[in-house]
Amino acid sequence: MPDTLDLLRTNLSRVEERIAAACRRAGRDRRDVTLVAVTKYVTAAQALPLRELGITHWGESRPQELWKKAAEVPEVTWHLVGHLQRNKVARTLPLVQLIHSVDSIRLMEELEKEAGKQQRSLDILLEVHLSGEEAKQGFAVDELPSLPEICSRLNHVHVQGLMCMAPLEGTLDDARRVFAQLRQIKEQLAPQLPAPHTMRHLSMGMTHDFEVAIEEGATLVRIGSALFEGLMGEQSV
Ligand SMILES: *Cc1c(COP(=O)(O)O)cnc(C)c1O
Repeated sequence: MPDTLDLLRTNLSRVEERIAAACRRAGRDRRDVTLVAVTKYVTAAQALPLRELGITHWGESRPQELWKKAAEVPEVTWHLVGHLQRNKVARTLPLVQLIHSVDSIRLMEELEKEAGKQQRSLDILLEVHLSGEEAKQGFAVDELPSLPEICSRLNHVHVQGLMCMAPLEGTLDDARRVFAQLRQIKEQLAPQLPAPHTMRHLSMGMTHDFEVAIEEGATLVRIGSALFEGLMGEQSV
């Protein structure tokens, strides 16, 4: 589908320019920021040309949608970026490299149990609820001091950082405040975590706020609309 390829190439080059500019402003190396293409607005077939364009980290927010797309496109690295119900853990685990959106201790424990059963290790990020109104999920800031102790009990699940969403209705300044706060939490927690747990990742920034997120230290940006503009069906937005 040459049309889709052209469209994605154009969208991607705009996104890449914005990422590069944000990295320059922040004095950061472009290689320290990974673009995760959030494919939820399109079909796997529509997203496929992105792989030819070199984008190999793909994300989905719904587990069932991830199962479907990962079966169609197994050759990219899949990220789950939305809420995972405990009864979907077993089926999701073999398909993903990173779960960004781990939002409770119960889910961590379920992941640990299942990763043990499947004899694999699993990298996760913890979703932190900072923004007030929108985020229904995520750890409250006052739950985080218990994290080092919880981590010390995990053998298969490796915490590798934090994730957040800015308030949907907020301004870019609101987003910046939220992202800066997450970075501060990461810096506080980092020295307290027992190896192999780390705070090396901050997953923050979407289409409307990824530049601010990069300026505040994001290592993973999750971008959907800006990449798939022109392909998204009305109903799926
Ligand atoms: C949809 C979604 C994104 C991408 O959003 P855009 O604004 O379309 O770039 C990122 N993260 C999560 C958790 C999402 O659900």
